[in-house]
Amino acid sequence: MSGIDSIEAATESLAAAIADAGRVVALTGAGVSTASGIPSFRGDGGIWEQFDQRDFHYRRFEADPEGFWRDRLDLREAFYGDGETEPNAAHRALADLERDGHLDAVITQNVDGLHRAAGSETVVELHGTNREVECVECGHRLPAEAAFDRAAEGELPPRCEGCGGVLKPAVVLFGESMPDGPTIRAHELAGRSDLFLAIGSSLQVQPAAGLPARAQRSGATLAVVNLEATPVSDRAEYDLRADVTEALPALVEAVG
Ligand SMILES: [Zn+2]
Repeated sequence: MSGIDSIEAATESLAAAIADAGRVVALTGAGVSTASGIPSFRGDGGIWEQFDQRDFHYRRFEADPEGFWRDRLDLREAFYGDGETEPNAAHRALADLERDGHLDAVITQNVDGLHRAAGSETVVELHGTNREVECVECGHRLPAEAAFDRAAEGELPPRCEGCGGVLKPAVVLFGESMPDGPTIRAHELAGRSDLFLAIGSSLQVQPAAGLPARAQRSGATLAVVNLEATPVSDRAEYDLRADVTEALPALVEAVG
């Protein structure tokens, strides 16, 4: 971004690029959710300082689904507290961009479901969603709320009402292989994009970490919006070091 010496100028320039681009795809990470009160997993004060990761391992779920669900209730309490989490200005900005025809898809590393809650329609959830649970036997899905309510009332583990199979949060657990579908779809979207926005992600975790390079190899312009530098910030055409809840609404306003 040589020659662009302010966030405002970079925002104006990026907004023009978005307005001109044929296909725009956004990738979002934890930085988009923190403003909604979702604690981060890693680092100081992260969830994994309070909870033992091993309790939420896929092997633990298979060996002891009752204990897994009991611990999962505690984890959910720590995550969401008493109230429902709400989408923030960054989620709403991306939903607005899609509605106005300037954004084709959101690929997210987050499992909180807040993009859909904000109104985004084309959302690829790389690591699944905490808003649903699925039966390990028949694959039937239902809202997580119902399963957690039943678990809280003592149904441990909660089971599928159709086939009696154990229900599992519809997220990728530690030690569980990533589902192929979302990863393949994300690579296709990145490869077909003309402009790729990496937002609020430190770009350290695969498969998300590989998507910006995938997009650039296919000729896309790369924009990074993140408070801190990422592994691809140096080779991004736009590198906005900014709070996503401020930068994205400003960007959407500038796109017009
Ligand atoms: Zn079932």
